[in-house]
Amino acid sequence: MTGRDLAEFRAEVRNWCRAHVPADWRHRQTGVPDTEFVRFQQEWFQELRRAGYAVPHWPREYGGGMPIPEQIVLYQELAAHDAPRLVLAFVSVHHAAATLLAAGTQAQRQRHLPAILDGELWVQGFSEPGAGSDLAALRTSARRDGDHYVVSGQKVWASGAQYADWCLLLARTDPKAPKRHGISYFLLDMRSPGIEVRPIRQATGESHFCEIFLDQVRIPAEQLIGAENAGWKVAQQTLGAERGLTMLELAERLGNAGFRWLAEWCAQPGAGGRAIDDPVVADRLAALEIEITGLRGLCRDLVERHEAGNAGPADASIVKLYYSELLQRVMDFGAEVGGPAAHEVLRKPMSGGWESGAWVLDFIGSWEWTIPGGTSEIQRTIIGERGLGLPREPAGT
Ligand SMILES: Cc1cc2nc3c(=O)[nH]c(=O)nc-3n(C[C@H](O)[C@H](O)[C@H](O)COP(=O)(O)OP(=O)(O)OC[C@H]3O[C@@H](n4cnc5c(N)ncnc54)[C@H](O)[C@@H]3O)c2cc1C
Repeated sequence: MTGRDLAEFRAEVRNWCRAHVPADWRHRQTGVPDTEFVRFQQEWFQELRRAGYAVPHWPREYGGGMPIPEQIVLYQELAAHDAPRLVLAFVSVHHAAATLLAAGTQAQRQRHLPAILDGELWVQGFSEPGAGSDLAALRTSARRDGDHYVVSGQKVWASGAQYADWCLLLARTDPKAPKRHGISYFLLDMRSPGIEVRPIRQATGESHFCEIFLDQVRIPAEQLIGAENAGWKVAQQTLGAERGLTMLELAERLGNAGFRWLAEWCAQPGAGGRAIDDPVVADRLAALEIEITGLRGLCRDLVERHEAGNAGPADASIVKLYYSELLQRVMDFGAEVGGPAAHEVLRKPMSGGWESGAWVLDFIGSWEWTIPGGTSEIQRTIIGERGLGLPREPAGT
């Protein structure tokens, strides 16, 4: 693709954003009942779909096929226009789709990929009490019973489980096998009898994630994905879907809306003058802008290396670690320079992250990002072992 084509594409997305990004979307997602949040997110997803922007990373035959340079432009423009993020469909369009494409049968793909485009929602049922970082320690069990599996156990921290139609479920099918070898991967219909979903209330007041209790839930055997007891490898493919372009999107949003708000906040006239006129504030703002520029460079490098097939084993961890900790620094600074006024906004949209523009809530929300997809400690271990070749931590089987 030539530079001129990309410039044309950028102009197209820009015009589309000007015409379609609802100016009042934060208001429409803030403090509203869940049903309205879901309706708004689904409408936005369909708006993007009509433009061909909803699943650019999927294969062409399923409605995607956008070249990587165009995807980068798309995410840059969506971020620059502060468009709503697809928080509700995130697991569906990334994790579920990647899993189905990598390990699903043709029937499973045909059943679910078009349905995801029509708004089918997925949740990732991996973590359990006692099996987070050490995911292979999971204890939810699945026992074969004729042409079904019978599943019992508990999942936790399942984002969006209260809205989900389907679940990517890991369960232990062979309790005697070494930890990673006795796990199977299922597609679970969340309307199956025996499932109870309990939302968990967070410090921000939201209930972004839930506990899922499974009591003798029957899953048809054709909803096993991959082979029995070979679910661990499939799970790695699911986890890999969180990396790459999704990080680029987040970095662009931090660099665009996030930093812009911070700079505008600092430039507002306050009782004691403008914060930006304090050289210490100006200095810290400049330092954060430099860090954000570094993050964007790292993300573009990651995407390009993925595309060229030469990404290093720790590249994604470096980006994830740097993004999540920089996000905290930006939000921390926003809450600090915001002073008492930053504490006044007490409601935030159910955006699943830091994107409310309410500094104190966003600071609390920013801590979420250092945990999922591997905590900062786990990322540092990966970078040390796989990136720098340091001696390995003693591991389980
Ligand atoms: C916003 C958010 C969304 C999430 N969404 C989902 C979801 O949709 N589906 C899902 O299945 N899960 C989800 N999770 C769960 C997430 O994957 C786990 O919280 C994460 O893997 C950490 O596991 P844990 O909470 O059990 O902590 P633990 O693993 O118990 O860790 C506790 C602390 O010990 C540290 N630690 C643990 N092991 C080591 C080690 N070997 N070396 C050094 N330090 C270590 C950790 O870094 C952490 O600081 C989500 C979590 C969050 C915060």
